Amino acid sequence: MATALESAGAPARPLTALNEEELMFQSAVRQFAREQIAPHVRQMDEAGLFRKDLLAQFFELGLMSIEVPEEYGGQGGNFFQAVLAVEELAAVDPSAAVIVDVQNTLVLNALQRWGTDDQKRRYLPRLARDTVSAYALSESGSGSDAFALSTRAVEDGDSYLLTGRKLWITNAYEAGLFLVFANANPAAGYRGITCFMVERETPGFTVGKKEDKLGIRASSTCELILEGCRVPKENVLGQAGQGYKVAIETLNEGRIAIGAQMTGLAQGALDHAVCYARERKQFGKPIAEFQGIQFDLARMAASVEAARLLVYNAARLRDARLPFTAEAAIAKYFASEIAEQTASRAVEIFGGVGFTRDYPVEKLYRDAKIGRIYEGTTNMQLATIAKHLLS
Ligand SMILES: Cc1cc2nc3c(=O)[nH]c(=O)nc-3n(C[C@H](O)[C@H](O)[C@H](O)COP(=O)(O)OP(=O)(O)OC[C@H]3O[C@@H](n4cnc5c(N)ncnc54)[C@H](O)[C@@H]3O)c2cc1C
Repeated sequence: MATALESAGAPARPLTALNEEELMFQSAVRQFAREQIAPHVRQMDEAGLFRKDLLAQFFELGLMSIEVPEEYGGQGGNFFQAVLAVEELAAVDPSAAVIVDVQNTLVLNALQRWGTDDQKRRYLPRLARDTVSAYALSESGSGSDAFALSTRAVEDGDSYLLTGRKLWITNAYEAGLFLVFANANPAAGYRGITCFMVERETPGFTVGKKEDKLGIRASSTCELILEGCRVPKENVLGQAGQGYKVAIETLNEGRIAIGAQMTGLAQGALDHAVCYARERKQFGKPIAEFQGIQFDLARMAASVEAARLLVYNAARLRDARLPFTAEAAIAKYFASEIAEQTASRAVEIFGGVGFTRDYPVEKLYRDAKIGRIYEGTTNMQLATIAKHLLS
C-alpha cells in the first residue's frame, strides 16, 4: 500500500477504494459470514456460546492470523485487512467480529511488535493453527484507570509468580494463550507493569466465572484467577516494566477495529431495515415509499458512510506508519455512537416485530451498546481527542 509520502504527486487514493487483494478478501469474509455464520447467530446468542466448528473455520480461512507472516503459517496480510474482516463479520454477528478482533489486533499485534524471535517461533504458528488468545488488562478496580491494576508479579529464580484477578476478559473461555498485565515493581507505579504470555494449563491459573451479558453474548467474557501462577522469564513480552507501552500501543490500534466492528454492525442494521421497508406494506404500499422512512434510511446510510471513512482513514494511517492516535479515538467514538443510533432506528423501522427476537435487529441493538464501553469508554476516547486538540 502506498504511504502518503510515496503517493505525493500521484492522485490520492479514495479511502473506500479497495485494491484487488482487499476486494477478494472482503468478499470471501462476507460470503463466509452470510453463508456459514448467519444461520447460527440466534442460537449462539441464546446459548451464550460460540460454536467450536465455526471457530475451526476461522482458523482454516486464516481469519485468526491475518497479519502473521506466512513463514509462521499466517496470511501475511496487513492491519487494514483485519479491519475489513472485523467489519464484515460484525454486519452478521458482532460476537464473531470481536473474537477475530482480539486475536489479531490485540494479541498478535503485540506479539509481533514486542516478541523475541524465540517467542514468535514458539507462539505464532500455534496461534495461526488452532489457538485462540485473550488480552487481560482490566480488573474489578481498574478499568478506565487501567494502569492502577493490582495483579502482582514477584520474581522467583528464572520465573515470576503472578497473583491477582482479571475481569471482563474476552475469548477467555476458549483461549489457550493469555497476555496478562501485572505489576512487577509497584514502587515504580505504571513503569512496573509487565506483560506476560500465560498458557492456560499453567499451574495457578484458572478461568473463572463467565459473564451473562446484554449483548455480544456468544463472545465469552470471563474472570481470570492467578494464584502464584509461575511464568518463566522467557515469557515476558517486551522488557519488564514496559507493559504499559505494550498496552497503550495495542489498544490505540485495537480501537480502530472496534470502530470497524461498530461500522459493520450499523451496516448490518441498515441492510435489514432497507429489506424490511421494501417488503412491509401499510396504507396499501411498501413503507419504503413513505418519505419519513426514506429519510431515516438516508440518514442511517450517511452515518455508516461517515463512520467507515473515519475507520478506514485511521487504519490506513496506521499501515502507512503515520500518526493515528487521535484519528483512532475519533473513529471508535463516532462509530459506536452511530451503531447505537442506527440499530435503534432499525428496530423502529421494523415496528413491533423489531422488538422481538424473531428478527435480527433486536440483537444488533443490544450488541451495539458494548461499543461505547470496551477498549476505552466513550469518555476515554473524548479525553484522547481533547488532549490532541489542546496540546
Ligand atoms: C463485554 C466486555 C468485554 C471486555 N473485554 C476485555 C478484554 O478482553 N480485556 C480487558 O482487559 N478488558 C476488557 N473489558 C473491560 C473494558 O475495557 C472496561 O469495562 C472498560 O475499559 C471500562 O472500565 P470499567 O468497566 O471499570 O468502567 P469505569 O472505568 O469504572 O467507568 C465507569 C464510567 O465512568 C467513566 N469514567 C471513568 N473515568 C473517567 C474520567 N477520567 N473522566 C470521565 N469519565 C470517566 C467511564 O467513561 C464510564 O462511563 C471488557 C468489558 C466488557 C463489558
